[in-house]
Amino acid sequence: MKKIILSILAFLFLSSTITFAEMVLFNTKTLKYHQLWCRWAAKCTVNCIKIDKKEAINRGGIPCKVCGG
Ligand SMILES: [Zn+2]
Repeated sequence: MKKIILSILAFLFLSSTITFAEMVLFNTKTLKYHQLWCRWAAKCTVNCIKIDKKEAINRGGIPCKVCGG
């Protein structure tokens, strides 16, 4: 029984770390980054890559004014 509880806790811990890594759509040309639901993100198809928000900031990313990055 203890083992089951431990594995549930481990699962919850792992899934929380996955959601913690926030993905954004980063425009490699304008350096702006968007939330995935942003209407500008939907229009950005050529230079945009889906990366971690921290990675976008590391690359000198600017948060979008519409969605806040
Ligand atoms: Zn945006």
